[in-house]
Amino acid sequence: MTDGGLRATTDAAPETGADSDPLVEVDGLRTYYESDRLFGGDPVKAVDGVSLEIGRGETLGVVGESGCGKTTLARSILQLEDVTAGTVTFDGEDVTAFDRRERQAWRRNAQIVYQDPTSSINERMTVGEIVREPLDVHDRLDPATRRERVLELLETVGLEEEHYYRYPHQFSGGQRQRVGIARALALEPEFIVLDEPVSALDVSVQAKILNLLSDLQEEFGLTYLLIAHDLSVVRHICDRVAVMYLGKVMECGPTDALFDSPENPYTRALLSAIPEPDPTADPERITLRGTPPNPRHPPEGCVFSTRCPFRIRPDELDLGDETWERVDEFRSVVREREHATVTIVERLKSRLGFDTRFTPIGDVAAALFDDHDVPSEVNETVWNAVDRVEAGDSRGARELLDDRFGSVCEAESPPVCVAGETESRCHRHLEEYETLDLAE
Ligand code: ADP
Ligand code: MG
Repeated sequence: MTDGGLRATTDAAPETGADSDPLVEVDGLRTYYESDRLFGGDPVKAVDGVSLEIGRGETLGVVGESGCGKTTLARSILQLEDVTAGTVTFDGEDVTAFDRRERQAWRRNAQIVYQDPTSSINERMTVGEIVREPLDVHDRLDPATRRERVLELLETVGLEEEHYYRYPHQFSGGQRQRVGIARALALEPEFIVLDEPVSALDVSVQAKILNLLSDLQEEFGLTYLLIAHDLSVVRHICDRVAVMYLGKVMECGPTDALFDSPENPYTRALLSAIPEPDPTADPERITLRGTPPNPRHPPEGCVFSTRCPFRIRPDELDLGDETWERVDEFRSVVREREHATVTIVERLKSRLGFDTRFTPIGDVAAALFDDHDVPSEVNETVWNAVDRVEAGDSRGARELLDDRFGSVCEAESPPVCVAGETESRCHRHLEEYETLDLAE
């Protein structure tokens, strides 16, 4: 199945070059973290096949729940991580093929601003030294002019000359983030990654920093990749948005289209999770079951299939919603079991958090199905699965349930489809499943 990512143009359309070439092109990027040697096992697939483009002067937003791979994607684009596969092209050059010297020279052009200025700033250096450091490292300007340049940068980000000799701990969060931005600007980059730049700040300060970033973009023609988990931040300053889930981009499109008419079930769920004063007042609200799966064991097929409220149900099984919900619940418990013994850390976590893993599986099945009228074939499959789990074969149990209750969603990775004004990875966009209305 197609495992490429989302791109602004289709593969077969070089003639859509109406826009100028993108500044950044990411193609099939994968970054896997190998497991701890002690435990062995599968790698963490932090970024798993991302393709996207960022136009010159554009701001591309990246959103998604914590742990979905946003920071790893950003750091991989900047070649700060060892990339497992795929390419990153910057201004037409493949930066993944650069040797160390070339990469070092290119870095000047591609900078990053982190969420927490305190973690990226050396507290023992003065503000002046912090902003000057990149100039020293890259040996830019003669040492005498560097000081002037730093003073100019401080002014650019709204700080004062007198701040030069201060220490970051004397500054407020907003001021520290201004220092981080001045430092990122020092080498006059074209591209800046902003990794949750305002998440640690008070709302009133957030607006000021975002305005500063917009002004700087205009003044210097900067291209931004803006990572945020706060969707309102993204909505205000991004031209386009990519929605990530478990290392993949699920949907990508113009900001307004994505917020006003999201096509992908995950985007819908994410948008509907924006807190409302009274959640019960919104009948459209979608509640997501469970937490995102462990990226060490992503689901086969569509990565969102285990939580998707719009998962396709197999035609041949006509069960009511109530029964389906119970079946889905049972399957998610069995799925958890499958990886329950993988590492000690996970085992500890599950002991503290999800004790369904340690309730005998037969009790779980009984609680879900005993007082509920289900077709005998469903009962039979469920209790066969229970037998397998009890015999130590959780994987076999999971596979049995997938065979019986699964659909294309669990079997195949969905291709990227043009859907409305966005591009989205979902089987629901394919012609054969189109009759099933997403809104149902
Ligand atoms: P986000 O920024 O969206 O919160 P990250 O990119 O930080 O997500 O992390 C994605 C996944 O990769 C997470 O499961 C995280 O635990 C894992 N991860 C991140 N960095 C490392 C690392 N250096 N070694 C192993 N796993 C990592
Ligand atoms: Mg992050």
